[in-house]
Amino acid sequence: MIDQVSALYDKKIACLHCQSTFTSKRVRSGSLSMLKRDSDFCTYFKEQSLNPILYTVNVCPSCGLAFSDQFKQHLTPSQKKLVGELISAKWTPKEFGGIRSLEAALAAYKLAIYAAELTDQVHSVKAGLYLRLAWLCRFQENQAEEKRFLHIAANEYEQSFIHSDYTQGDKEMSEVRVLYLIGELKRRVEQYDEAIQYFSRTLEYRNRTIETGILSMAQDQWAQAREDYKAKKQKQAAKIS
Ligand SMILES: [Zn+2]
Repeated sequence: MIDQVSALYDKKIACLHCQSTFTSKRVRSGSLSMLKRDSDFCTYFKEQSLNPILYTVNVCPSCGLAFSDQFKQHLTPSQKKLVGELISAKWTPKEFGGIRSLEAALAAYKLAIYAAELTDQVHSVKAGLYLRLAWLCRFQENQAEEKRFLHIAANEYEQSFIHSDYTQGDKEMSEVRVLYLIGELKRRVEQYDEAIQYFSRTLEYRNRTIETGILSMAQDQWAQAREDYKAKKQKQAAKIS
């Protein structure tokens, strides 16, 4: 068992809004052992209380702005005004700089999503926040909330694909990966027709990508989506008859 104190370190952060500096915890790379990864890339570690997604959001204790390292570094004057009126004016000082529980991380993501909407962050940044928020709900076994956020994440990734901004939220994201991910999120929210379309678009990259792992995942999840679809139809038919 790794103790939390040695696996975490304090990163100094400058607030994008009020410029004050504060610290936020980060997880030392190399201090975790991975257990498994879900088909939408949600990763589980032996030390789940140290899952790095708990610490991706910085929350300024002075003004209340919550943001990730992927946010644009400068806010426009009108965005600053909105943050001042809708976030800072209502903020009662809260500390997010210590060790975070799942609940504290959830609260931080909700604040960051609100801030991302107000400050007009690119779709891929919003998509990444919604997806990770859905994963936190999965860790809590709250399926209704998980599905709600996966649904929004799928739509944001679709927009991010259309606007070609998908590398801005996540450096590892590629065209083939984002197509696969949209398909998989659609499958998870039971939009099977669209899921199948996205998987087939992913597979069109067969001779054009070195990401063969993604291609085989797309193949598997395509088959899974077809089965899920059939099962859902049979269930509906059983209800009618
Ligand atoms: Zn601030």
